[in-house]
Amino acid sequence: MVDEADDAMTNLPRIGQGWDVHRLEPGGPLRLGGIDIPHDHALAGHSDADILLHAVCDAVLGAAAMGDIGEHFPDTDPQYRGADSTELLRVVVTRVREAGWRIVQIDATVIAERPKLAPHKLAMRESLARLTGAPLDRVNVKAKTAERLNAVGEGRSMEAQVVAMLLPV
Ligand code: MG
Repeated sequence: MVDEADDAMTNLPRIGQGWDVHRLEPGGPLRLGGIDIPHDHALAGHSDADILLHAVCDAVLGAAAMGDIGEHFPDTDPQYRGADSTELLRVVVTRVREAGWRIVQIDATVIAERPKLAPHKLAMRESLARLTGAPLDRVNVKAKTAERLNAVGEGRSMEAQVVAMLLPV
């Protein structure tokens, strides 16, 4: 009976969630979702600090029960200083595919006080679809502000939240 249950579960979708935050520093452009958005501030961190791609990595790894971005790309490793997060996500996509999973849906929320992200949502969706292999009509990016509350609302940081769904290859 246990074997039958395991077989049934093998074909079920896997859901994962990811979250990230980085601080903002003067100087643009703003790298977000693998694209450059004109802005007077940029996200700062050990890599290129692309919160959206980092949250996608964690959501995908979470769905596959394969740990987190810090395990795969330690920020103590000089190799990842200034890393292009599109490359990190490509590695994550390859690793989960090798484990038998494909990414079929991404739903993301970016929380930022400035700039207005609505004009850039389609470009971010297209970038995420290209990087993950998920169809564009199953990739969504939502933009929220923090109503001037907390560090995000005060313009000192930005956050991203992502849910990903995987199916067996
Ligand atoms: Mg990060």
